[in-house]
Amino acid sequence: MKALLVLTALFVAVFGKRTFEGDQVLQITAKNEAQISLLKELSEQEHLGLDFWREPIHQSLPVDVRVPFNSLQAVRAFLRYNKIHYNVMIKDVQINSFIDMIVAENPNMVSKIVIGQSYENRPLNVLKFSTGASRPGIWIDTGIHSREWVTLASGIWFAKKIVTDYGRDPILTDILNNYDIFLEIATNPDGYEYTHTRDRMWRKTRKPNPGSSCVGVDPNRNWDAGFGGAGSSSSPCSETYRGPSAHSESEVKAIVDFVKSHGNIKAFVSIHSYSQMLLYPYGYTSTPAKDQAELHEVVTKAVSALQSLYNTRYRYGSIITTIYQASGGTIDWTYNQGIKHSYTFELRDTGFYGFLLPAEQIVPTAEETWLALMAIMEHTKNNPY
Ligand SMILES: [Zn+2]
Repeated sequence: MKALLVLTALFVAVFGKRTFEGDQVLQITAKNEAQISLLKELSEQEHLGLDFWREPIHQSLPVDVRVPFNSLQAVRAFLRYNKIHYNVMIKDVQINSFIDMIVAENPNMVSKIVIGQSYENRPLNVLKFSTGASRPGIWIDTGIHSREWVTLASGIWFAKKIVTDYGRDPILTDILNNYDIFLEIATNPDGYEYTHTRDRMWRKTRKPNPGSSCVGVDPNRNWDAGFGGAGSSSSPCSETYRGPSAHSESEVKAIVDFVKSHGNIKAFVSIHSYSQMLLYPYGYTSTPAKDQAELHEVVTKAVSALQSLYNTRYRYGSIITTIYQASGGTIDWTYNQGIKHSYTFELRDTGFYGFLLPAEQIVPTAEETWLALMAIMEHTKNNPY
């Protein structure tokens, strides 16, 4: 429960209103008048906090109801006990409603692209921030490891920051007048859902592994860059299981297809937590990236900008020299695709709270990270290639 409050506090901080994190919308189909009566009784149970989008009126009309996270078990049990049929219409209200809200509020700048579907058929939503046609792109993703909650919270904060600062902050305005920004907040939505319902520490995807009782693939070992090499596991039960083949995970393949079909992504930033590091390729080989000098210059600038706000200290360098050898990682693949500015963050902290970063650190984490992202985007804009 404490962990659930993390995102709640972010939404309250950013939007000043309550959150619907973990809530579900159920679509209920009554088959007779008796079931309609039962649903009316249910709607009178005020302690459940139900929000009927479509009230129980007649059996010919489905009933849509938003069920708060804390009431889900009771409501599902009630429906099952009374043999009332229902479907989960919206599995996690908060992230999707945020995405739709920011698009609705900024129709001239923000649109939603669905780049694919997760294993459990959730849409893989990407926010596109654009002020003109045919521009090169900058990509940012958060939450590819589902337990790294502060990254998703930061992603939401970045989205709000972009629409707020455009036209006000001259540097961001200049960036957005020349580049589109693509932001995938819930990059591993199945895993993210699972961290809310079953296991707060879930990291991988949720696809079953044939022949094993262990579920999921590490989506940061699944890319076709040194795939299968050291620093990735062949065991389905491992947290760093690489998967049966490169791009076997639909969450990874969707980004691969998007990057290839776009064809003009100039910066790619994949955000993790925790460790306080800013890293560039490679992870799978100790051979330096051919642009190492420039990449090192960029991360040095970015880390200095980040530190300027709250004196948060980051380590930086290539993945293999700064953290450890890791094969099949996201930014090694993007770099090999010709995206020179490929970086990965490990946000706060250095292990005191680890993945359970307290709520009061969320906004400061997002704020300082944004300064580093701005340094990366500004460098990309000023040094076209
Ligand atoms: Zn991670």
